[in-house]
Amino acid sequence: LEDARSAHQPVVRDLSVCTPTFDRQTLTREMPAAILNGEMFLQYQPKVHVREQQISSAEALVRWQHPKRGLILPGDFITVAEQAQQIAALTLWTLDEVIRDQKILAADGHDLTIFINISGQLLSDKDFVEATCAKIHNCGAKIGFEITETAVIRDPECAIANLQIFADRGIVIAIDDYGAGLSSLAYLKQLPARELKIDKMFVLQLTSSNRDPLIVRSTIDLAHALDMEVTAEGVETQAAMALLSVMGCDMVQGYLISRPISIDAFRRFLLRWPPK
Ligand code: C2E
Ligand code: MG
Ligand code: MG
Ligand code: MG
Repeated sequence: LEDARSAHQPVVRDLSVCTPTFDRQTLTREMPAAILNGEMFLQYQPKVHVREQQISSAEALVRWQHPKRGLILPGDFITVAEQAQQIAALTLWTLDEVIRDQKILAADGHDLTIFINISGQLLSDKDFVEATCAKIHNCGAKIGFEITETAVIRDPECAIANLQIFADRGIVIAIDDYGAGLSSLAYLKQLPARELKIDKMFVLQLTSSNRDPLIVRSTIDLAHALDMEVTAEGVETQAAMALLSVMGCDMVQGYLISRPISIDAFRRFLLRWPPK
């Protein structure tokens, strides 16, 4: 199955061209069965510590291998799942997968925190909070949650309270896509986050833009002043990596290190890391 999936890889770009025309109602109807039938799968994208060159963690990214439409990326079905009240089911499925894969990695000798993306909607879903805490408590998995600030702004009081519950249970909270959405320093100050991820829109042209380096550097300084570690996402070149290192960025993630890959490809990646 894994090989079949990687064989599908090159198709991703072709299909993404036509995904906006997907009929959302059909996807909504098909999603619950798709989760149960194993059409969803995860890919992992590592994060690297800039100074130690160690893989410290990885992010799980969900994909839908649709029997008729081919591979669908999350940009085309996460909002569908949110609107159809299916995001909790999808995220709990993701958590189960991650816990299972983390055991495989542990057997290989890798002790990695795995991050899951959490929709804002779930930050005010009491059942979801209870269910995730129970799952993580039962197996002692090292889990991180990536949340956007935009997700918090919906219902800040409730979101911050639930994030505190997660943090108290040992879940590492990371602020995702920082700078790309509705950023508010008032919330940044209150969130129990250990990590801040700078959105790739400030990183992709880091070495060719005049302003992006200024924004990135001041964001790194701000995060450090608030005692948070910083990850730059969307690192595609050695030049960007070198500049981020000079700026004191703690971790990087991006195609330069690895694209999102299957669990088996990730195991092979870890065997070869660090590259000679
Ligand atoms: P994100 O969490 O900000 O994830 C990073 C996205 O950037 C991923 O796209 C990844 O493939 C892409 N990326 C990583 N490195 C590079 C790079 O060097 N260059 C470029 N150009 N792109 C890079 P993907 O997998 O399509 O995910 C898109 C978004 O979907 C994610 O953004 C996340 O917000 C959401 N998502 C993914 N999985 C889940 C999930 O299980 N639950 C929820 N709620 N959202 C998810
Ligand atoms: Mg993310
Ligand atoms: Mg991100
Ligand atoms: Mg992003």
